[in-house]
Amino acid sequence: MNLILMGLPGAGKGTQAEKIKEKHNIPHISTGDMFRLAIKEGTELGKKAKGYLDEGALVPDEVTNGIVEERLSMPDCEKGFLLDGFPRTIPQAEALEEILGKLNKDIDHVIHIDVPEDKLLQRLTGRRICPTCGTTYHVLYNPPKEDGVCDKDGSELSQREDDTEETVKNRLEINIKQTQPLLDFYKEKGVLMPINGDQHIDDVFVEIEQKLK
Ligand code: ADP
Ligand code: ADP
Repeated sequence: MNLILMGLPGAGKGTQAEKIKEKHNIPHISTGDMFRLAIKEGTELGKKAKGYLDEGALVPDEVTNGIVEERLSMPDCEKGFLLDGFPRTIPQAEALEEILGKLNKDIDHVIHIDVPEDKLLQRLTGRRICPTCGTTYHVLYNPPKEDGVCDKDGSELSQREDDTEETVKNRLEINIKQTQPLLDFYKEKGVLMPINGDQHIDDVFVEIEQKLK
């Protein structure tokens, strides 16, 4: 199954991706995660991307489209994939069509996790991440058993550098502008699957699974 996960920053893409990936045994391809890893490792890609992530701005398409093409060409994507955070603009959606055409693949569903904009700021500023295993928590909505400590491996939780109020506002503004045309693009192709993201994490997943069937 070839899936795209869409939704504004904080909608719950990463949280649901973990569940979908496990259930369907397909790789989770997050452009944001790829950039953060490259920055942490200090690679050429990381050097190109860092300034953009710090600002909450989009990394230029020639960089982003390139890493997506490379990743989708890997053998583990034969059985399907879950794209998260890409495409974010119409030019990226068009680039994806071209990439998939070359690879003889198609998108089956675009899962759009819809959450009212006024809820997103609180979701993002309360987000906490395990630096070791990547598990995502929320101080109020999905807290770890022990304050500030990962349930899975005991690491101290941290905050993403771009989850500060100012950067969050910038990311939301950029993404809100880009989202509607993308939704229209996939609706027209008949693959858009709207999901109510304003309910409990487990219920969001139930709705996704029901609609995928
Ligand atoms: P995205 O990948 O779309 O930016 P995340 O999955 O990282 O979003 O979720 C953002 C924050 O909101 C995290 O702290 C997460 O624990 C929390 N969260 C995710 N889904 C829900 C939900 N349905 N209800 C409340 N909080 C949620
Ligand atoms: P969120 O959904 O919470 O904004 P992501 O992890 O998807 O977070 O993205 C983090 C950052 O990575 C973005 O602010 C942007 O700088 C960069 N990025 C991720 N995906 C793309 C993309 N498709 N095009 C351009 N930049 C991207």
